[in-house]
Amino acid sequence: MKKIIKRTIAGTLLFTVVGIAGLITLIFYPQSLFANKFEHNQFVVYYDKDYNIEKEAFQSILDNAYQLVEKSELHNPDFRFRLFLAHDNIYNKIEGLQGGDVLARATAWNIVFKQDIDIVNNRMYTERSTVDLTELIVHEMVHVLQADRYGLFNFSPLKHPPIWKLEGYPEYIARRKRLSSDFYDLRKEMQRFVSANENSKRETFEAVEGHFMPTYYFKGRIMTEYLMNIKGMTYDEILKDQRTEEEVFDEMVEWMNEAGEKE
Ligand SMILES: [Zn+2]
Repeated sequence: MKKIIKRTIAGTLLFTVVGIAGLITLIFYPQSLFANKFEHNQFVVYYDKDYNIEKEAFQSILDNAYQLVEKSELHNPDFRFRLFLAHDNIYNKIEGLQGGDVLARATAWNIVFKQDIDIVNNRMYTERSTVDLTELIVHEMVHVLQADRYGLFNFSPLKHPPIWKLEGYPEYIARRKRLSSDFYDLRKEMQRFVSANENSKRETFEAVEGHFMPTYYFKGRIMTEYLMNIKGMTYDEILKDQRTEEEVFDEMVEWMNEAGEKE
């Protein structure tokens, strides 16, 4: 009897271990779950059999995204990005085991779209927001490059820099075009955030018109923007900077007020 129980336990354990190992492998290498793929420069895009992909439109989105990422200090010309259109695929559930209610996710070298995308209009729609698809792709590409540069383990759910440094930099690179336009004023953008009432920035904030995102994404972005554009720091220096989030934020607000007085 005892032997049988032992065997059963060992068998169950083995089954569980193999099952978990299989799931982890699938999270990193989900290619076999997708029937179709197309390659374009540094990208491989995976999608389902019946998915009617507008290739030409998607290629131009990918080209625009790549142009923005090229300006990042994390750019690696040898890197190949893998994109998975997973909204209708079993992979959406499997990778969802990592938790989090997200539109897209970067895991190791993979970028996963968890909701359908409107390629022709370069958009993803959520209940509350209209998301610029190019900017979303850039954000996730920068996450992949963070892990490429600093190591998978140092940019993982288990270990990563403070959230404002983790999310602020991808946002900064993704919004670059907007941030360098003539209509944009960093000080006014800070002012808009600092003077917004607590309710409007408790969990999400309207980062750009019609796009609500987690507040720390926006806060991280303006802080990163301040450190890079005004203080001339690199992302590498920001990561090594020992100051707390509060110290940097206070310094930024001080700059904002002084710059305001000079106007
Ligand atoms: Zn992110």
